[in-house]
Amino acid sequence: MSDPLESEPYRPATLLVHGGTRRSPFGETSEALFLTSGFVYDSAEQAEATFAGQAVHYQYSRFGNPTIAMLEERLALLEGAEACRMTATGMAAVHAALLSHLRAGDRVVASRALFGSCHWIVTTLLPRYGIESVLVDGTDLAQWRAALARPTQLVLLESPSNPMLEVLDLPAIAALAHAAGALVVVDNVFATPLLQQPLRLGADVVVYSCTKHIDGQGRVLGGAVLGSKAWVDATLQPFVRNTGPSLSAFNAWLLLKGLETLALRVAAAQQNAAKLADWLAEQPAIARLWYPGRADHPQAALAAAQMAGGGTVVSFELAGGKPAAFALMNALRLILVSNNLGDAKSMVTHPATTTHQRIGAEERARLGITDGVVRLSVGLEDVADLRADLQRGLLMAGQVPAGAL
Ligand SMILES: *Cc1c(COP(=O)(O)O)cnc(C)c1O
Repeated sequence: MSDPLESEPYRPATLLVHGGTRRSPFGETSEALFLTSGFVYDSAEQAEATFAGQAVHYQYSRFGNPTIAMLEERLALLEGAEACRMTATGMAAVHAALLSHLRAGDRVVASRALFGSCHWIVTTLLPRYGIESVLVDGTDLAQWRAALARPTQLVLLESPSNPMLEVLDLPAIAALAHAAGALVVVDNVFATPLLQQPLRLGADVVVYSCTKHIDGQGRVLGGAVLGSKAWVDATLQPFVRNTGPSLSAFNAWLLLKGLETLALRVAAAQQNAAKLADWLAEQPAIARLWYPGRADHPQAALAAAQMAGGGTVVSFELAGGKPAAFALMNALRLILVSNNLGDAKSMVTHPATTTHQRIGAEERARLGITDGVVRLSVGLEDVADLRADLQRGLLMAGQVPAGAL
């Protein structure tokens, strides 16, 4: 098995297609799918040496599998990370990154604008194990400075955040976190590895839900954790090996195929998103719009400095509140009502009643998630068709009398 790309400085589009490929003796062009739970040793001695760490041999797909290893290497090359471990879901990746690193008595500081399940892990699960957690407004450096004035073991943040697309100052937060002794973990789902590389901006660990853009075709769940070889080998790997949040080889193979087209899909969806954001911002039914690629985004300069584009998601607030938001969503014929994102198919969701329902009205208010906010994940359809669909939705949103729902 050869790996000609391991030490070559190829560009992202090339790495997405070839990175990490290891061919079997059959010389297949497409990455081989090793759908096997176990592996065979030549002898009892080889098995003994492998378990003692003196021989390199696959042992069991819970800890390593050749198809999954190709995906791990491809993602690591793309991210500029020394090492990567795949998990079955994005949440398994976040859980493993946090729980492998933390112990009772530790302290975590996180940005308030987290994905719902990340919020639950930080505020509900960690305290059960004696880990203190503190939430801050991620856009306010004074709050980070105050929270990180005490020794802290881990900082977790998401940028751009879901669904308000807040952009956080990664280099400044990483510097404060490192001074407090913390490992900086960034959930980079919204940016994708192509638009933002947190390790280059000061983060120590990056996590992905591969369910989103990396698959991007609504087929599989998957997660990834990337970081230094020292941290992955000593901290993450023993945790994932022994707790078993493993990705299936079949799903890894689909994600390898997903990566081959990631750059094309993200570029096309982002182009659609930017055009729709500009058009939506002009519509009278829309009170406010958030898109990190627009000059009116609250952190536009920061987004331009640390991201290579505005991304594929646009959020907006309808002046007519929930009745208008529901009327818009129900009038759509092309854009799907679905809480997923990063897909080839465009999707809308109403965060206050779906993804962010469980966090409660008070926390939603703190995050700016009003009842009029709609999140639009832009896909690969023709932008004129998407605009016509949204126009139909806006027409209905404008016709809703106050308090109609
Ligand atoms: C979807 C998502 C997750 C969770 O990923 P799953 O694959 O659904 O487990 C975590 N963080 C962010 C920002 C997400 O969008």
